[in-house]
Order: sequence, then C-alpha cells, then structure tokens
Amino acid sequence: MADQHVVQEVPLEAKSPFELRVGLGRNVPESDVRAALATGEIGFLHSFTTGSTVDGPGVRVVAWTAGCMWRCLYCHNPDTWTMTNGRAVSVARALEELKKYRFGLKIMAGGFTLSGGEPLMQHRFAAKLLAAANALGIHTALDSNGYYGDRLSDAQLETIDLILLDLKAWDPERHRRLTGMDIGPTLAFARRLADRKRAVWLRYVLVPELTDDLAEISKIAAFAAGLGNVQRVDVLPFHQMGRFKWQALAIPYTLAHVPPPSQELIDRAVTVFREAGLNAH
Ligand code: SF4
Repeated sequence: MADQHVVQEVPLEAKSPFELRVGLGRNVPESDVRAALATGEIGFLHSFTTGSTVDGPGVRVVAWTAGCMWRCLYCHNPDTWTMTNGRAVSVARALEELKKYRFGLKIMAGGFTLSGGEPLMQHRFAAKLLAAANALGIHTALDSNGYYGDRLSDAQLETIDLILLDLKAWDPERHRRLTGMDIGPTLAFARRLADRKRAVWLRYVLVPELTDDLAEISKIAAFAAGLGNVQRVDVLPFHQMGRFKWQALAIPYTLAHVPPPSQELIDRAVTVFREAGLNAH
C-alpha cells in the first residue's frame, strides 16, 4: 500500500462535521482502501474539530470517521455513510495532531473522541488510534452505534475510557424501520460493556412522531438502569441541520416536515430516564 503517498497529501485542518464533504478520498485506489481496513494504519476521516463540549466530558478534540452501515432516517451526516467521502489519514498523522492538544485537554478535563459515521466500520484504525491516544495519557471516548462492538477485543476496550453508545429505539421492528438494522448486536455490546464495567454514556435522539413514545423510552431507561455502568444519558433533540445534505446527495428524506421536539417533550423524556434512576440531561 502506498501509505506515505496517501498520507503526505493530507492537510488535516479542523472543520465542522455539519459541512457537506464528499469524495475527499475518491482518488485513493480501491486496493489502498482495502489495505487500510486490513492494517488499520490508515483511516478515513470525514472531519476533525477542536473545542467540542458535547462529545464527552470536558473540552474535546473530535474526529469523525467516514463510513456507516446504518441508514438512520434522522441522520444529520449522511455524507459520512460512504468511506471514500473521508480523507485518508494515518494513525501517525492523527497522533501528531493530537499531541498538540494533549496538555490543554488535560487542563480542560477533556480528551479525544472518535465519532462518525460509525468508527467501528474501521475498527482496526479506531482501536489503534484510541490505544495510542490513551498511551499518551489522553482521555479517550468512542461514539458508536455498537453494532460492530464485537470487533473490539477486551484488551482494546480497556484503552477506551468512555463509550458514547447510541441507542436509537427499543422495539426491534421500530429499530429496523429507523436504522435499517437489527438492535440485537447493540444490546449485546451494551451488556458486554456492563459485564466488563466500562463507563458508558447513553445517547438517545428524540424525534417527534418517531422516537417520542414515552412507553418505549421507559423500556430503554429500564434496560440502561439495569446495566449498572451507564453514568449519564443525553437526550439529543432532533434538528434539521442535516436536511441540506440529504438534498445535496439526492437521498430521499422523509423527515423534512418534522419539527424539533418542544422543550416540554424533551423534559418529559429526560424525566423518564431520571425516574429510572439515571443521570439524564
Ligand atoms: S448510525 Fe449515526 S452516522 Fe450512521 S446513519 Fe445512524 S445517525 Fe447516521
């Protein structure tokens, strides 16, 4: 694989994940993409930002990977679905960047979060990058839908300080309609994280008419509370910031008419989680 050739072309400038990004890795030969996935030395990053306060504790550097196997109806970054929409970045290059921030991140009680897309589509790259950041003394978080959680070994899990686990629905049919995929692997990963006593923050996107069934939310809350390792639950209000991406990519978008949830609805959902004994926001 022409690692050096690919990597040297990469200016790793910070960008908002809300910018539409397509085709950044389209010139990377298919054989290089396959080799990158096999070795994990190279990953495909959609965007990279500093100073985030919503992707884990403290102030964080966040890298969003490209590639996702789910098709959530409310996804606000459908341009992250395709791996070659991301820029090819080596673990070494990403670490170089992280080193610039390591002391600042410590002072601000923050760290590094790998988000996506779905980072475990590139599980070898994700594991290497998180382990290397952890070895630098940087707090590490992985934001994942959990579907490929079994791709991480127990030893690799030990290098991840916090898992931000996105739970989208409870009813299997609803989950499939919403994401296109089965809920089983995500729940299995959640149980494994609990067995291994790994810290988890649960994330739940609240969408009027789609994920606002309080009875369903209470089942998720009961499950989460029973795990014993869920330190926090974040109810994330649906928004339309990604609508233009669906339009630009010509992907049919079914939620164009859906408003953000009212504060009252958000409060009700948060209360359901709190009533289960969880630290919800
Ligand atoms: S799992 Fe995340 S990135 Fe993938 S489709 Fe769903 S919201 Fe989008």
